[in-house]
Amino acid sequence: THLIEARGLARYYGSQCAVQGISLELHPGEVLGLLGPNGAGKSTTLSMISGNLAPSAGRILINGIDLLDAPRQAKRHLGYLPEHPPLYRDLTVDEYLRYAARLHGLARSEVSEAVELAKSRTGLEDAGHALINILSKGFQQRVGIAQAIVHQPAVVILDEPTVGLDPLQIREIRDLILELSREHGVILSTHILAEVQATCHRVMIINRGQTVYTDTLQHLAEQR
Ligand code: ADP
Ligand code: ADP
Repeated sequence: THLIEARGLARYYGSQCAVQGISLELHPGEVLGLLGPNGAGKSTTLSMISGNLAPSAGRILINGIDLLDAPRQAKRHLGYLPEHPPLYRDLTVDEYLRYAARLHGLARSEVSEAVELAKSRTGLEDAGHALINILSKGFQQRVGIAQAIVHQPAVVILDEPTVGLDPLQIREIRDLILELSREHGVILSTHILAEVQATCHRVMIINRGQTVYTDTLQHLAEQR
């Protein structure tokens, strides 16, 4: 079965159409890239499939669970890092991840172990006591990824995960994404082709709210 199966997604803002007729699937072990220019509808699509924005039309199954009918149940299988996450700058990394773990439904007794594991998977072992405020942009992004995996979701959704980072930080986040894909299905968005080439198995190109193209990366390379 698919980790994500979305059919006929549409989203209007007033009379303006941001997304229309987008369908996608995510398979286990796969990194799917949504590629498209600014304003194409990537964030809107990812907000809908992460259960944070109601579609105007369409259907979304997460691990076979209907996201619109059973949002709480479906969201347990999802981790999401928005492009502009709310920053809890005055918290330490540990405080923020503990909070995120509780929000994701973990029991009090499960929190410490989950936070330690999320930190070790994102290279934050030594950063637990640091205030998020003083971390570099690259480390803040790791914290964002750590909160998205702290409840061990089947699917991790990352909106423009490397935007605003320097080349070294970009490489580190790319490596981290590949590492994540060993345990989670991943969907990420980007407006940079090289980003997709570095981390994704399959790409869906969207423009003006519609799917233009979808294929494996190998196939895409052969056609160029
Ligand atoms: P992308 O993530 O690919 O840059 P978005 O999903 O952010 O694209 O935006 C798609 C379209 O929807 C754009 O035209 C954008 O201006 C519009 N849009 C996004 N969010 C809103 C909103 N809250 N209200 C009105 N229009 C929006
Ligand atoms: P992205 O960087 O993904 O393209 P934007 O910069 O377009 O996102 O949007 C940043 C924020 O502003 C988002 O919360 C989006 O929903 C909102 N937004 C984008 N376009 C509009 C719009 N035309 N009217 C109102 N809000 C918008």
